[in-house]
Parts: sequence; C-alpha cells; structure tokens
Amino acid sequence: MAYEDSNIFAKILRGEIPCDKVYEDEFALAFRDINPQASVHTLVIPKGAYVSFDDFAAKASDAEIGGFSRAVQIVASREGVTDSGYRLIANHGKHSFQEVPHFHVHILGGEPLPGLIARP
Ligand code: AMP
Repeated sequence: MAYEDSNIFAKILRGEIPCDKVYEDEFALAFRDINPQASVHTLVIPKGAYVSFDDFAAKASDAEIGGFSRAVQIVASREGVTDSGYRLIANHGKHSFQEVPHFHVHILGGEPLPGLIARP
C-alpha cells in the first residue's frame, strides 16, 4: 500500500488540524487519542511517511526506528503509566482494522486493561 499524505495524521504532522500534543522530537509526535479506549490512550507517530509498522520496520533507518522506540518510552513515562503498566498496540492492515494509514502506536493504560483482543 502506497503512502497517501491526505491521511489525518499527516495533516496533524503538517499542523493543518490540531491535536492534544503530549510530546514531540526529531523522530516522533505523540498526542491523545480523540476516542480514548482507556483512561490513558495516547498515540505515537513517526515524523516519516510510513503506512504501518510493517512499512516502518521494513523501510525506516536505524536512527528513525531507534528514535521512535525511545519516544514511545518517554511518552509512556510522561503519561504516568510506566510503573502501573501499559499496553502497546500497532495495527497493520485489513485484519487488524487499521483505520489511519500512517504508522502509529497506541499506548493504553491508567487502569487494568481488558483481554488482549475482542472479536469484531
Ligand atoms: P487504528 O485503528 O489503529 O488505525 O487507530 C486509529 C486511531 O486514531 C483511533 O483510535 C482513533 O480514535 C484515532 N484518531 C482518529 N482521528 C484522530 C484525531 N484527529 N486525533 C486523535 N486521534 C484520532
């Protein structure tokens, strides 16, 4: 799947639409999910144009992958869930029901989380 820069997270990265920003650095931007599924639900996205984790892991540089991974850890810490625990989710493609085709990691926590997956 080719990257389409009309997706909503590309618009957030370009500053065309607002977000509830938690963190930003050279590699990543983090903001709160507009439809939270837990008391902490924050998204971390790379600055680069990647459709999904699969695309990112295949094509991003080592610096981008390392910088993004560090950003996820920093955001979890800023959101106060490091000690209590959190779950990371990265949807890729049709079977995962990925909605936004710009790679993002969901950080979920702030309360005990339900089972790992729910059937559609
Ligand atoms: P996914 O199904 O993994 O692609 O998740 C996309 C996530 O993006 C969903 O949890 C949405 O609630 C969230 N989302 C969509 N639009 C926005 C937005 N403008 N700001 C913040 N989160 C958004």
